[in-house]
Amino acid sequence: MRHIPNKFDIKLSRRSALLGLGGSAMIATSLFTTNSLAAEPVANSTSVDDNSNPLNAPDFEILNNSEWRSMTNQQWRERLNKSSYNILRKEATERPYSSALNDEKRDGWYACAGCGQILFTAKQKYNSGTGWPSFVDAIPGRLNTKPDRKLFYVRTEYHCSRCGGHQGHVFNDGPKPTGKRWCNNGDALVFVPKETLS
Ligand SMILES: [Zn+2]
Repeated sequence: MRHIPNKFDIKLSRRSALLGLGGSAMIATSLFTTNSLAAEPVANSTSVDDNSNPLNAPDFEILNNSEWRSMTNQQWRERLNKSSYNILRKEATERPYSSALNDEKRDGWYACAGCGQILFTAKQKYNSGTGWPSFVDAIPGRLNTKPDRKLFYVRTEYHCSRCGGHQGHVFNDGPKPTGKRWCNNGDALVFVPKETLS
């Protein structure tokens, strides 16, 4: 495991690259130290397409999948603030209405606060009234689920497909068209405003 710096340039490869269409950009960010993406586009950056199609969501690559999965608890502790660590690595749940992302209405994307993988588009977000950022759908392939038996009934837990960080639970009481409510901890996410990457 190589040292992971506190600040780095993140290689941004759009989902379209996976489809063989190419396209990448470099952005500088303090994503993992401030839990907010105050990135400024730098030279060689490319514009990001309209995000109405979730498959156009960008993807941040710093480490590869196996490197993320081999991170130790100590490394995660050094990387994340306490709340994000407890949620992402210990499956804690933040207090409802505690996250500023509840009221976030700008266009953009929601990235995993652990590894930067973008999980949701702003267009997938809706106000569920639960006090947690909620989404009617997620970007395909970026979340995995598993049964959670911690309560007296079984819930469906979901986590980032790249770093394994716990994000929240998905329920079947959401609005159309999916009927799903992806109930996410705000401190497990970082909002990436669209203008940051345009
Ligand atoms: Zn992640």
